[in-house]
Amino acid sequence: MSTNVQALYQEVILDHNRKPRNYGELAQPSHHAEGVNPLCGDHIHLALEIQNDTIERIAFHGESCAICKASASMMTAAVKGKHTDEAKTLIHEFVDMATGRVTAGDSPHIGRLAVFSNISALPMRVKCAILPWHTLQAAFHAEASTSTEAEADPMQTPLGDA
Ligand code: ZN
Repeated sequence: MSTNVQALYQEVILDHNRKPRNYGELAQPSHHAEGVNPLCGDHIHLALEIQNDTIERIAFHGESCAICKASASMMTAAVKGKHTDEAKTLIHEFVDMATGRVTAGDSPHIGRLAVFSNISALPMRVKCAILPWHTLQAAFHAEASTSTEAEADPMQTPLGDA
């Protein structure tokens, strides 16, 4: 990582750990899922209130490392108020970028999430960063829980068409 990217990355991770966005629970979620990354011990719960295909509310909570928490916080901020199709596009772009399949420059919707673009060089941390996105995918598909070690491990197989 260049010094600037490294500094920005650390600043963003610290900021979202100090003040995670949309942290907590929803009273009446329409969708929810639980995500586990056994390699690190990350375990998050994600809840959404979707009306007319729009994500009106989203919240997460759980026990996770700084990278997972920052990724979840930034994810909720990025998809809140968005159409579910836009959120699904972002899931694909983020997972492809974090796993090194494409660059942030080739990910038109990625925005500030590009701070995670160099994480593909750290395989152990990639799973921490993509767990929230994997969990969001599971929530859309109404799966109760997901794991980075499941058969649909996005490190091994591309996510299916959402
Ligand atoms: Zn982690």
